Amino acid sequence: MKDYSIDTRCVQAGYTPKNGEPRQIPIIQSTTFKYDTSEDMGKLFDLEASGYFYTRLQNPTNDMVAAKIAALEGGTAAMLTSSGQAANFFALFNICECGSHIVASSSIYGGTFNLIAVTMAKMGIEVTFVSPDCTEEELNGAFKDNTRAVFGETIANPALTVLDIEKFAKAAHAHGVPLIVDNTFPTPVNCRPIEWGADIVTHSTTKYMDGHGAAVGGAIVDSGKFDWMAHADLFPGLCTPDDSYHGITYAEKFGKEGAFITKCTAQLMRDFGCIQSPQNAFILNLGLESLHVRMPKHVENGQAVAEFLEQHEKVVKVNYPGLSSDPYHALAQKYLPKGGCGVVSFEVKGGRAGAEAFMKRLKLAAIETHVADARTCCLNPATSTHRQMTEEQLAAAGIPAGMIRISCGLEDKKDLIADLEQALEAI
Ligand SMILES: *Cc1c(COP(=O)(O)O)cnc(C)c1O
Repeated sequence: MKDYSIDTRCVQAGYTPKNGEPRQIPIIQSTTFKYDTSEDMGKLFDLEASGYFYTRLQNPTNDMVAAKIAALEGGTAAMLTSSGQAANFFALFNICECGSHIVASSSIYGGTFNLIAVTMAKMGIEVTFVSPDCTEEELNGAFKDNTRAVFGETIANPALTVLDIEKFAKAAHAHGVPLIVDNTFPTPVNCRPIEWGADIVTHSTTKYMDGHGAAVGGAIVDSGKFDWMAHADLFPGLCTPDDSYHGITYAEKFGKEGAFITKCTAQLMRDFGCIQSPQNAFILNLGLESLHVRMPKHVENGQAVAEFLEQHEKVVKVNYPGLSSDPYHALAQKYLPKGGCGVVSFEVKGGRAGAEAFMKRLKLAAIETHVADARTCCLNPATSTHRQMTEEQLAAAGIPAGMIRISCGLEDKKDLIADLEQALEAI
């Protein structure tokens, strides 16, 4: 599938039926798999043969969809997880342990920020957050002897900052560690971080990949490029025998191309069990089949809405990397030449009260804790996700009370703009 364009890969990668087999990927709704002899099954447990034995670790439907996502990102191996949160946790925990350190962009999804800053801290994994706009010198200064990974988001949710992937990859590689990039917002249709030096790519497939607000899920893709053995002292989990798996050394047995995902499946899926249900994987695949058709429309609507809001007198500020006035426009032109996504954030006049009055009047844009859906939705952090904060705390966090995040869906942009226009009159 490597020779085909991204559009063709969206539709056909991951599953090629043989003579007489189902055209659509089969949902293998089975917890377990049958073998003729214990010896056959033993080979699977020893990772001597490939195959399935229990859906907590691996399922054929999931693997077909993961193979499609690997093909889209240009990776060598991939796995599905139960959510985006699980994908980011697994991607980091696969190479970090108690005593490790992570360098992460401070401009990332709140759930991931909390995962790294609070929950992983309880496991003895420390983090240094750096501004995505930091200089190379500041970035290099954040590394420690125990740094094992660098993390960032291509387009951050909800700040809409654009990551300078090459800058972060260069610093990571200079310190012998991989760059992990969460590519949820642009999807591989609009950016493929591996082409810019990222080693591992993660996704909340809950967003554009599913795209219909139907199934929570996540994915991890390995570029197959990071040479674990060249930094064996930093990654003992990949480069020394795993006693919990019959003494296998993943980087030796599965090479650069397969070690990361095999270890992640054999250890983390086995022990944590954050598997995606095959039903959800099937739904995700339906979304992927039209991803390349939907993304340009999300971008078109996001761009039109951002341009409309920017010139409106009731709007104080608009964040959208597609606007030439946006501080991330130059990075967006480099990394996202086809556009980024349909999410726009903006601040209305009148603070919290202004935002509330405006949102109450909206007819098409629904108030939801979600983004990247076919249906337009919006959220005012000050009255929802951040409602416990005072005006002063909100200002300190860089979230003005009148800030609204709107995720432009697939409706006609004229209808979306008309809806926003009539609602802005309420302010
Ligand atoms: C939503 C989101 C996540 C978390 O994904 P879930 O599927 O909700 O667990 C992680 N990263 C980004 C960028 C997201 O937007």
